Amino acid sequence: MDHSDAVRLKATERYLLNELDPEQLDQFEEHLFDCTDCALDVRAAAMLVEQSKAILSERTSAVPVRVAAPASKPWLAWLRPAFAVPVMAVLLVVVGYQNLVVYPGMKKAANTAYLFPAASINVATRSAATPAVHAQPGEPFLLLVNLPAENRFSSYIADLYDSAGHIKWSVPISAETANDTVPIRIPGQREAGVYALAIRGVPHGGGNPSEVGRQPFELRLQ
Ligand SMILES: [Zn+2]
Repeated sequence: MDHSDAVRLKATERYLLNELDPEQLDQFEEHLFDCTDCALDVRAAAMLVEQSKAILSERTSAVPVRVAAPASKPWLAWLRPAFAVPVMAVLLVVVGYQNLVVYPGMKKAANTAYLFPAASINVATRSAATPAVHAQPGEPFLLLVNLPAENRFSSYIADLYDSAGHIKWSVPISAETANDTVPIRIPGQREAGVYALAIRGVPHGGGNPSEVGRQPFELRLQ
């Protein structure tokens, strides 16, 4: 299948609606991996799923407020149509897209080599230039982290800070792992900007971890 076939067959649309016959499905999935245009179409649909999930989690986090309201039977709040219907609608959209779009794509992607966006981070000898990593919005990337060689720590903790200086998450690193370059997979981010990776060392025999180094890096979104 070439791109003009795909357009003529309205393949992207029918792929999303699960209307392609098995042969067309195979041919289109093969075409998807060569065709940026069609892949972007499908990717846009996948991003819609992500957004739906975000909406869903916002609605879910609103639940305790509802339940805590001084209603006589708080659990009935779940059954209020005004609340339950939008959640169900979003759920159906998410489940539908996962089955139709994400899953067929994932089956293929799992068998395909993939280059992670990456940047090298030297915590030991902080570089003057800020390393940059180029990724798509929401695309995971790798930080290849070189730690200072020190014997006084039993293990390390890596902390990721966003451009506002807020800690996003922390991950423990064992001393054995720290002898080599440590590849850390960073979950996809939606905000470009200057992030920082800080490393804390955990002293032998306990005690408070102390910061041993910090390296800013720039996340550029494409
Ligand atoms: Zn195409």
